[in-house]
Amino acid sequence: MCGIIGYKGPRNALSVELKGLKSLEYRGYDSWGIASFNGDKIDVIKKVGKISEISLKDLALEKSTLSLGHTRWATHGNVTENNAHPHLSQNRKIAVVHNGIVENFQELRKFLQAQGFHLVSQTDSEIFPHYIQYFMDQGLDFENSVKKTLKKIEGSFAIVAAHLGNKEMIGVRRGSPLVLGLGNNEYFLASDVPAFLEYTNRVAYLNDDELVNINEDIKFCSLITDKKIKKHIDTIQWDIEQARKGKYPHFMLKEINEQKFTIKKAAAQPAYLIQKTT
Ligand code: GLU
Repeated sequence: MCGIIGYKGPRNALSVELKGLKSLEYRGYDSWGIASFNGDKIDVIKKVGKISEISLKDLALEKSTLSLGHTRWATHGNVTENNAHPHLSQNRKIAVVHNGIVENFQELRKFLQAQGFHLVSQTDSEIFPHYIQYFMDQGLDFENSVKKTLKKIEGSFAIVAAHLGNKEMIGVRRGSPLVLGLGNNEYFLASDVPAFLEYTNRVAYLNDDELVNINEDIKFCSLITDKKIKKHIDTIQWDIEQARKGKYPHFMLKEINEQKFTIKKAAAQPAYLIQKTT
């Protein structure tokens, strides 16, 4: 498990990342990283340790309006800065954050290496940006390169990928959670709602094999049919305070005390909100 958040919009993306990742730290906290899209380059900061100890002035990055962040709980590869996400493609034009496990990553790594790609981490996740570049180098656009890459994957993923070219951001999932937050001309793609709830309460929960592309406009499509789909936009009724520990010293204690309300709410949930997560 780990936490991811992508942001595209007019705010200072670094501040969104920092707050978002702190709220996702319960999902993983051995290391963290942020990729910031600035003009014609992607700047990356990665550190071992907890994001909760970091403040905005510690991020030696320029302000940006597109960024990806990740707080990791390692499954493949040691806890090192190199293995922390986001991972970049060899041409440094594509950044990806990943939650999940790529079971056939050895085979995919070997293929990429045979094509001349130099992989710099020990993770399963690093294959995503390189494979996307591999397909883009063959003339495919960003979205189709992401789709082709996902056809190669055995395992689980929620990924957010972004491309320097036209600052396009794509989110897609299979087996790991991903939710889109829709603000006023701004978009959030995160593992969980509290990562962006202070900015918007309008959300679309992605189901398995659904992709969202945030570019000039926003488009959802199915990986299975390769057709556009319509998504229900839901309005979150709870606020950010309810997602915090509040008066309780631990989340577990809060959960135990709130069970009488949680069970009632869960039973009243509409079917489209019930999704498989890892
Ligand atoms: N498998 C990836 C890694 O080890 C992601 C970890 C996760 O989702 O927990 O970096």
